[in-house]
Amino acid sequence: MDDRRQTTDHGPQTTDHRPQTTDDVVLSVQDLHVSYGVIRALKGISFEVRRGEIVTLIGANGAGKSTTLRAISRLVPIQQGSILFEGVDLRAIPPHEVTAMGISHVPEGRGIFANLTVQENLKLATWGRKDPKEIQQAYERVFSLFPRLAERRNQLAGTLSGGEQQMLAVGRALMRGGRLMLLDEPSMGLAPVLVREIFDVLREINAAGTTILLVEQNAPGAETCPPGLRSGDRHHRPGGHVPGTDG
Ligand code: ATP
Repeated sequence: MDDRRQTTDHGPQTTDHRPQTTDDVVLSVQDLHVSYGVIRALKGISFEVRRGEIVTLIGANGAGKSTTLRAISRLVPIQQGSILFEGVDLRAIPPHEVTAMGISHVPEGRGIFANLTVQENLKLATWGRKDPKEIQQAYERVFSLFPRLAERRNQLAGTLSGGEQQMLAVGRALMRGGRLMLLDEPSMGLAPVLVREIFDVLREINAAGTTILLVEQNAPGAETCPPGLRSGDRHHRPGGHVPGTDG
């Protein structure tokens, strides 16, 4: 990685190749500290995400990547620091309102309901959305981005393959709507061809206007980097290529 910024000694690192300006900052995380009892998971991470970006947080096991996303979604208490989403301080916002504000979270382990069908999982994710037309459009969008989910709409989610479960997890985030999507290691446990498929769809989602913050263990350039992951990629540079990531 040649352009690493906003790094800390004690957390995941962000990689992003855009010029640094304060314009269009969607998410600003400053000096974030989170502890689980005596375990200090985050000791002062700071970074920003601007509108339209795909930003990747890179870090090893236990670096605090999932914790960072959980803190943004307000699922863990914040000891110190600030998280601003479109200028609003999220520290005062309860988790269910974070979703309503426009942040959707695809958690590690995918967070789907194994005993419900694909369609039921998608329907549950529309909770809180009122406009039936918008909901219908969201279904159409998910099934158009992931035709495999359309074919399997009546199948129990627990019987889907790992890749299909990841597609469903992203589909659920799309059903919730939102302007910022958080993804926790979307490549985990998937074959390279499926990872590429998921990342292609993430680029489409990004091109349609959703800013993306994702976490992964390996940076572009590393041999074990997920195929399709490009450091600080943005969809308006779809031809961009980071050596070692796209073959
Ligand atoms: P991985 O890539 O392995 O998922 P990560 O970078 O996402 O790791 P986190 O899951 O954020 O890391 O964990 C950061 C640290 O906080 C780790 O030391 C972990 O053991 C600890 N931790 C996470 N969740 C809890 C919890 N619920 N209770 C206690 N400690 C926790």
